[in-house]
Amino acid sequence: MSTLEPYANWLAEKYDNLPHGKYVTLFVRRQAESEVIFRTEGSGEDLSKELTFAGRANKEQLSRVVISKRKQTAVERRTGRELLREHGFLFFDGATRQGKEEDRCGLNRNKPCAICADCMIYGYAVGGGGAQKSRVMTDDAFSVLPANMITGKRTFNAPYDNGTMRDPVTGDASHSIQADPYVKPGAVFLDMETLKDVTPDELRYVLGNLLRTRRYGAISSRLGKMSNTLLGVVFSDCELFSNLELTQEVYDRLKAQAPDGDLSFPLDSEAVDAVAKAAIDSLWNEVVGRKHRLPDAEVTALVGEVGDVFADADKVKALLERLSGLYS
Ligand SMILES: [Zn+2]
Repeated sequence: MSTLEPYANWLAEKYDNLPHGKYVTLFVRRQAESEVIFRTEGSGEDLSKELTFAGRANKEQLSRVVISKRKQTAVERRTGRELLREHGFLFFDGATRQGKEEDRCGLNRNKPCAICADCMIYGYAVGGGGAQKSRVMTDDAFSVLPANMITGKRTFNAPYDNGTMRDPVTGDASHSIQADPYVKPGAVFLDMETLKDVTPDELRYVLGNLLRTRRYGAISSRLGKMSNTLLGVVFSDCELFSNLELTQEVYDRLKAQAPDGDLSFPLDSEAVDAVAKAAIDSLWNEVVGRKHRLPDAEVTALVGEVGDVFADADKVKALLERLSGLYS
């Protein structure tokens, strides 16, 4: 039996375009596994930062690195689209299943097919035509630790046309120094992805994309590696709290646990996970609405089930087939 079966009432049975107030929130620890650049490389642009209160109790001000919500889902939906493309489940402009290759559903080409799993789950809009609001809602994610602890700057001399540091005409050394700020490996961000009115299969698809996406940041050859760990799953009839509240609650708790009251980089991810689960429990009481949290053992089982599906091409194909059946 699937882990999700007892929770059928919290999920949609089939797709329709009316709001039903069925929310599933996935709690994720996103952790950098290499140097991650979130801005265009070599642009000299700084990372996005926000001045925030350190904690909910601790009113010290802290500059935190922010991963914008768009940067998170854009890469995850690409992960899913690769599978849809591979198995022939990206359809054609005009919501048809046959057409010319150049009219196949494409991101940023103003040619959404409006009937594939990607269009229908992550949303699409066409100028003058139809639209589907994304049913995957995200929020900016904040670093647990302050920006100055989790970032570094790599400086380099900008190369000339010939790819060297010497001017090909004059032979002079390059004086153009550029600096790319990056997030250090080990940096931790806490994040919630809230899915609205999704069926069990749609949930599996989004969770698969989340767990299988390992590269984030600027779109270039040097995308950084990040890992996503599912910390919790909550069903509810309303949205929960914000990423910032969760991050601040975690900060307070880690700080209270630190031997001398000082947090140091890198954080122990096991400690972060334990504290994040306790923080969810504590923020939980402030949510006004019906809600149910999956026990940890079921979260583990769900990740295992989704892993089984995505490890098997036939199971993936069957999942994508069932999804496509939802929208036709
Ligand atoms: Zn599509």
